[in-house]
Amino acid sequence: MQLYPLFADLSNRPALVVGGGDVAARKASMLLRAGARVTVGAPVLGPELRELLQQGRITYRACAYQSEWLDGMWLTIAATRSRRLNARIAADGHARQRLVNVVDDPALSSFQVPAVIDRSPLLVAISSSGTAPVLARRLRERIESLLDPALGPLLQLAQRYRARIRARHADLGARRRFYDWLHDGPVSALLRAAHPMRAEQQLVAALADREPPRGSGSVALVGAGPGDPGLLTLRALRALNEADVILHDELISPQILELARRDALQLAVGKRGGGTHTPQEAIHALLLEHAQAGRRVVRLKGGDPFVFGRGGEELAFLREHGIAYEVIPGITAALACAAHGGVPLTHRDHAHSVRLVTAHCQHSLDTLDWVELARERQTLAVYMGVGKLEELTGKLLAHGRPSDTPFALIENGSLPGQRTLVGTLGDLPKLARHHAVCAPALLILGEVADFAPALHWYGELLGPTPPHSGISNALADAA
Ligand code: SAH
Repeated sequence: MQLYPLFADLSNRPALVVGGGDVAARKASMLLRAGARVTVGAPVLGPELRELLQQGRITYRACAYQSEWLDGMWLTIAATRSRRLNARIAADGHARQRLVNVVDDPALSSFQVPAVIDRSPLLVAISSSGTAPVLARRLRERIESLLDPALGPLLQLAQRYRARIRARHADLGARRRFYDWLHDGPVSALLRAAHPMRAEQQLVAALADREPPRGSGSVALVGAGPGDPGLLTLRALRALNEADVILHDELISPQILELARRDALQLAVGKRGGGTHTPQEAIHALLLEHAQAGRRVVRLKGGDPFVFGRGGEELAFLREHGIAYEVIPGITAALACAAHGGVPLTHRDHAHSVRLVTAHCQHSLDTLDWVELARERQTLAVYMGVGKLEELTGKLLAHGRPSDTPFALIENGSLPGQRTLVGTLGDLPKLARHHAVCAPALLILGEVADFAPALHWYGELLGPTPPHSGISNALADAA
């Protein structure tokens, strides 16, 4: 070990920062957060430090550095621009046996400040012993994204009840089980769901019980986005990391499942046309079985769980059976395909609304309000429509949407094999057949689709640039 790791209690203890610039200001703020009594020494102060001085939060020595400043200081941070001066401060510290950190100079420092993830009272500190600060920073980002922000409040709550928890569960094993329950069970779920009072009530109720509470299962309904793991949310990633069981749709990419906890049970419950088919009731039964066995279940769905994902039905079922749940949204196909196809869905000059429509089956086609859908200056994002392009086009034309309305049909949106087919409504079925567009594909129809030829940036672009293409011509002229 090159360094001895430690967490210093600086509350109400004097600490010194030498330097008046923004680096010194950052260091002073960090010390203030830890409750230190901060003295800053420098001939002049930058704006941030001036503000701290005006707020009365720091003591200021307005002159050139003097060795005596170090006397009585628990630790010192040298943040001046002069290496010579920094070296002198370090030498003074050494002579006085005081800890000195010289910013970005491990060779001169007798202590180093780690990269920190702050979920107070939990602190995670990372050090590469000064050899690889970039790596330390990257690790910090990774861990930062893995630790739920609700962890801080949970630990604060646990801290307040620590003595009572200890008194209630004197036996170490029982106490450990209680803390497991605290971390995995309803208290932490309630904190994540922004119900701090109810979380505390749960804890109090559990402490009143004789037995340590048994682990209770829960379900997180998680949107996985369109397939690219980069488009997962941090919360989705955390849920995947904590899951005991993952029930996922067929469309979920292997790269996303790779991110899940290694020993999680993964079950494909796809409902793709052809192939295996898991009826909705069977999915409900699986959710119930695993949650009632005390497991943390992730129900992972493509895109967003509430957009043509039957998420509502699953929640209603869970509620009926008293299973705790939470919902983590995902990037729905319409948003992902628009972004990766260069279609600003509600460009203010060309559309005042966007509609998410499904053309899944004849039934849904018959019940759609075609008069409404055929109106101009609105964008349609049609899900599950590849098999129904002929009927869809026919209905829209019959209800008056002009045949030169531009479209972008995006296959495998945001995935490496993305293809974007552009054209006008009149040619849609013919072009889609010609290029053999397959599911999953999303149709964006409306004036804004005219941006796709010019703004498209991801994957392959197919199809003719329509000759009338006013928007894309204007953009091309401007370029
Ligand atoms: N809940 C999902 C939609 C499920 S319905 C969501 O919010 O995105 C399935 C339909 O979504 C597919 O038929 C297709 O129209 C669309 N879709 C899903 N992923 C897609 C992708 N990567 N590219 C294009 N369309 C996609």
